[in-house]
Amino acid sequence: MPAPKVPVSRSDAHSWLITGPLLLLGALLSLPILLSDSDTTRPGDNEFGYALVLLVLATLATPMALRFDIRRQALVTRMDDIPVILALFYLSPWLAVGVRVIAGLIWNILGARLTPHKLAFNAASHFAGIATANVIVFAFGLGSGGSPGTWLVLAAAVFAGNVVALSAIAGVMVLLQGIGQLPYFLRSSLAGFAVIGVNIVLGLVMLLTLQASQWGSLLLIALAVVLGVLYRSYAQFFRQHRSLTEMYALTRDIAATNHDGTLPDVLLARVRALLAADSATLWLPEYGRHHEVLLSARFDYQGLLDSAPTPDLFRQLAMRTGNTVVAGPKSGPPELQSALQEARVKDIIVVPLRSSGVAIGTLEVAGRLGDKVVFGKDDVQLLETLSVQAGAAVENSRLVDRLQFDANHDALTGLANRRRMLEALGEAMTGRGPREVVAVLLFDVIALREVNDSLGHDAGDQVLIQVARRLRDLAPQGALVARVGGDEFAVELRTVSADAAVAVADTLRAGLRDRMVIDTLTIDVDTNVGVSIYPDHGAEPEALLQRAIVATYVAKSRGIVQMFNAGLQSRSVRRVGLAADLEAALNTGELEVYFQPKVALQDRRLVGVECLARWEHPVHGQVAPPDFVSVAEHTGQLSRLNGVVLREGIRRAREWADAGRSLTVAVNISVRTLNDADFPLQVSELLDEHGVPADRIILELSEEELLRSGRGIPALKRLRDLGVQLSVDDFGAGRSSFADLSRLPVQEVKIDRTFVQGMATGASDLAIVRTVVDMARHFGLAVVAEGVESELTLGLLEDMHCDMGQGFLFSRALPYERFESWLQVQADADPTVAPAGEVRWLRAVP
Ligand code: C2E
Ligand code: CA
Ligand code: CA
Repeated sequence: MPAPKVPVSRSDAHSWLITGPLLLLGALLSLPILLSDSDTTRPGDNEFGYALVLLVLATLATPMALRFDIRRQALVTRMDDIPVILALFYLSPWLAVGVRVIAGLIWNILGARLTPHKLAFNAASHFAGIATANVIVFAFGLGSGGSPGTWLVLAAAVFAGNVVALSAIAGVMVLLQGIGQLPYFLRSSLAGFAVIGVNIVLGLVMLLTLQASQWGSLLLIALAVVLGVLYRSYAQFFRQHRSLTEMYALTRDIAATNHDGTLPDVLLARVRALLAADSATLWLPEYGRHHEVLLSARFDYQGLLDSAPTPDLFRQLAMRTGNTVVAGPKSGPPELQSALQEARVKDIIVVPLRSSGVAIGTLEVAGRLGDKVVFGKDDVQLLETLSVQAGAAVENSRLVDRLQFDANHDALTGLANRRRMLEALGEAMTGRGPREVVAVLLFDVIALREVNDSLGHDAGDQVLIQVARRLRDLAPQGALVARVGGDEFAVELRTVSADAAVAVADTLRAGLRDRMVIDTLTIDVDTNVGVSIYPDHGAEPEALLQRAIVATYVAKSRGIVQMFNAGLQSRSVRRVGLAADLEAALNTGELEVYFQPKVALQDRRLVGVECLARWEHPVHGQVAPPDFVSVAEHTGQLSRLNGVVLREGIRRAREWADAGRSLTVAVNISVRTLNDADFPLQVSELLDEHGVPADRIILELSEEELLRSGRGIPALKRLRDLGVQLSVDDFGAGRSSFADLSRLPVQEVKIDRTFVQGMATGASDLAIVRTVVDMARHFGLAVVAEGVESELTLGLLEDMHCDMGQGFLFSRALPYERFESWLQVQADADPTVAPAGEVRWLRAVP
């Protein structure tokens, strides 16, 4: 009789609802036989002897289970139909009932140790089954064992008995698990009837053999042994075949998930069903960017739960040792057994999942369905094989996942990358509401290059990571934050107007401006911010982003959030073309150095010059210094440029010295230049070459740059030791204090020209200039006012005892020859010119 695996779980007390009617059915069906009280068709002589033999046979046959696999359904078939056929033929109905029921009871009590409920159910179902068979035999009667009529009746009887028994099981199933499982059960039963057919044929062959001769039984025993061995090896073959089929099916299903995130569903559902487990669990501990995954499929739940019915302990153990962990009521170490009991889990197999040899997680099944069954060696083997597949699948899906992520994200900050930004811009442009604009806010981190140069790339990376974090925290909901270039971050958002976008940009910029602590250093981070708007500034994502970047170039010189406008475009386009030309200019000496006088205000004596680079582009004409300096900066040519100017300055210093004028020569440099380890050596070689004393040279470094990286520059100390002076340019624009400066080897401060230009008309500018002058004196630093354009300003500066002035009032920067003639004019105009050639009374050159 086929016994499809009946996953009877939970309480089976309900089975009485079936057991009762079964008993009743058995009794009712036995009634006609009882009333007729004739046992005509059966030989009565040796009846009890037969009964005993059959009882032994039936008891032995009951557990003789063979597992068939029909279309992926495991089917356990018992051989107990064979003795039933013999019993129906040889024994009286009552003895047949007795043999059937007692054989069942013996096995179920001694072998299977069923619960009383199940025992009763099985006995009742055997009783009802054999009673049904009896009634059919009774109704149609049996002829000789050799007649086909007898065969037909016996076959019908056994068949009907099975139908009753199966219906009983179906009844229990519906009762306990609802109607849902019924189709599955019926399908497997259908396949089982084929096996009943085989049993019937075998039974009839035995009957015939026994009918022919008593000795036939010996042949039968021999045949049974042979069949048994054959069955066993077949079963083995079936199992292996099944594993392969399952494997193939799993691979196919996993491939079909197409990395859409349904991998765990497919995997767990299949593994659970395959191993007939109460639960199947996948665990992938947190790994890199991947979060922890803990998912399980349960027998009584559709879909996945993000928890496991089993303790962590088992998974940890498998993961740690890299070995399969198996535990059950009678297997595994005692502590695992007790952990299982505590968790009310019958048994468990946990297999580590590997990816390239390393354990990346576990696959487990727990709670073998069915009362008296536990996971066996085969199951462990099957799960281990499946886990190879699963491991590869997880690795693949992570790989795809990572590739997809990498394609759209910046590795350092985890933000979206340029590609993703452009994609999002495209989406926003098409999905824009009627009264909405799409804005790109571009944040260019100021002086990141200097941080990299002076503190190392790790520090630079830290700055970027922190900027990214701040932007992400501060950005309005729905905005996309991306890193679109080395030091450029973009925020894409939809908003009501261009003004609203600028307001957001202002807020973000202010939020970013806070100090950052990198290792032990505090760094001020500021950004240049450009904004572009769709539809005003471009119809393509690429153009829109480009225009926001262009706007940041201009923001750089203005210190505000800059909205793009068409006027900016031509300037930036020009810059791009300039890069190559600048290199040529540096090589051919097209780049000139101009000189602007620095005047001591106390006696209006010329004390030095600032060297300023000039470039006359063959096509574009004069290029503004901030433009080509920024080009040089972005193309790695700034050191070259500074070197060219420095060499020229030192050369001229020699000439002036030879003419009896000792002028200081100021040269603008950047932190990048200072970081060039060879720079101090270059300076000292140049000085030696031209025989110029080191203290004639003043290196100007802007306040902003100095503050960001000053403390980390070893070259500063070497230059000071050399005797070269250091000046802080554009002082006051940043937010450094004199206390900061006092820690640096600085001798001079140059007040930013915007304050000087404004001091004659603005009280606050005047206050700033006054403070800087006072403080500089206090700290023993020389102070230079840049941008002196009027007599009024000059007067004010003199009143506050500012040391030096530089500005158009005295002169613009001039090429060498014109500077010489300017000097001449000054000297001629003033009779009090000192013998050393120092100019006493300076005036603005028209
Ligand atoms: P800076 O170092 O602050 O140079 C002073 C700038 O102020 C010069 O502009 C000069 O022409 C201008 N200036 C001087 N007096 C007055 C005045 O009374 N009124 C006004 N409105 N401006 C005045 P320039 O030459 O255009 O240079 C601009 C900036 O370009 C410089 O600012 C400097 O940062 C950079 N630069 C120029 N030459 C070089 C160079 O050789 N190397 C480096 N690294 N930077 C340079
Ligand atoms: Ca300067
Ligand atoms: Ca300056």
